[in-house]
Amino acid sequence: MTRLTVDAAVVGGGLIGTWTALFLAKRGRKVALLDKGYIGAQSSGVNFGNLRLQGRHPAQYPLSMRAQALWEDLENLIGDRCEFDPTGHLYCAYDDKETEALHHYAEVSEANGLAIERLDGAALAKRFPWISGKAVAATYSPRDATANPRLVSPAVARAAKALGATIIENCRVQEIVARGGSFELRTETELTIDCGQVVNSAGAWGAQIAADFGETAPTFPAGPPQFVTEPLPYFLRPSVQTIDGTVIARQIPRGNVILTGYPRTASDPVANKAPVPPFKTLAGMRHLTALIPKLQHAHVIRVWSGIEAYLPDMIPIIGPSATTPGLIHAFGFCGHGFQIGPGVGLCLSEMIIDGTTPTPLGAFSIERFRGDVAASEKFRKELTRCRSFSRNCEICA
Ligand SMILES: Cc1cc2nc3c(=O)[nH]c(=O)nc-3n(C[C@H](O)[C@H](O)[C@H](O)COP(=O)(O)OP(=O)(O)OC[C@H]3O[C@@H](n4cnc5c(N)ncnc54)[C@H](O)[C@@H]3O)c2cc1C
Repeated sequence: MTRLTVDAAVVGGGLIGTWTALFLAKRGRKVALLDKGYIGAQSSGVNFGNLRLQGRHPAQYPLSMRAQALWEDLENLIGDRCEFDPTGHLYCAYDDKETEALHHYAEVSEANGLAIERLDGAALAKRFPWISGKAVAATYSPRDATANPRLVSPAVARAAKALGATIIENCRVQEIVARGGSFELRTETELTIDCGQVVNSAGAWGAQIAADFGETAPTFPAGPPQFVTEPLPYFLRPSVQTIDGTVIARQIPRGNVILTGYPRTASDPVANKAPVPPFKTLAGMRHLTALIPKLQHAHVIRVWSGIEAYLPDMIPIIGPSATTPGLIHAFGFCGHGFQIGPGVGLCLSEMIIDGTTPTPLGAFSIERFRGDVAASEKFRKELTRCRSFSRNCEICA
């Protein structure tokens, strides 16, 4: 039996856990970061890579803008750019109703300090001639960016380790015992950890940890299907999204076009699987080529998805446990945790060290779900819409 005593233990080595460990280590705290598998191997390593600022939930803007400033300083922070690229983001509408929604999002973004350009059909065709006439309007945000998700969590963990953090992979935390002001973490290996604070950054597995402390989080595991094409001559900059969510696409300078879109598919955190039914590839490419016709002959060479926890109101749980002092939850990032990840890590480190953070996080309290356990099944149906996984599904076909 090995025992380790630290100031804080972070359970889950995705983006949220690694950024938290980094900011704690930067301020001299003794921190242990544990993952049941490898650092960044779940949602954090397989996501689309969008650092999208347009169209976020209004309550999330202060956190989101704080996070973007950290992304923009990534190389100074961790000594690696991780292919961070300020590509900008183009949000497209197909009709007047969608244009109205687009302009509403633009007003919210502007009220939170983001510069947005509004483009009508003619301006869109002139500036981005590869967009089809199906798009009648768009908004463009130059500050939105992309980065390579495969690189980020391991790079952040390496930077945390260089500052003294203990990084432990392949070590599932099986039980967390609260002992009036301190915690004992029992793992599936011989290791036991004693600490004063615990961060639950266990992603799609975080709701179980919350449940062990008597707290309800009606999460549902799902993931947007992802597709990547063969390398093609580079032309697609910025990243492009339709407001109906059927197309979210970007091209990396190596030439591959990465595509995702809704509806999402259900995933399985127990079997550790996130299947993408083959006909979703056909549907995804049909949506993509309706928006960008010059991709009609592109070949998809790989598909994947991930295991992400969604909540009924599509915003995460971030904040102190309502039952157990010293425990902080940060999970359920509803498909947009990549962008806010560094901001979440910084805020959690402030909560642990200073007892408070200047960023408003009240909307993300776990207490908003108190007693509401029926929400997830209703939400599951709404979120994935497709439940048949068959080519006869009218949503997927
Ligand atoms: C396909 C896909 C595309 C996405 N695209 C985008 C995008 O373009 N932009 C964006 O902003 N967001 C995107 N997201 C969302 C983003 O990837 C996630 O919100 C983010 O990665 C969540 O990070 P996390 O650290 O909370 O979770 P995770 O990355 O899931 O990390 C949690 C970790 O906890 C570990 N763990 C769980 N239980 C235990 C335990 N008991 N003991 C030890 N370790 C444990 C797991 O092994 C895992 O590594 C996407 C998600 C998916 C799935």
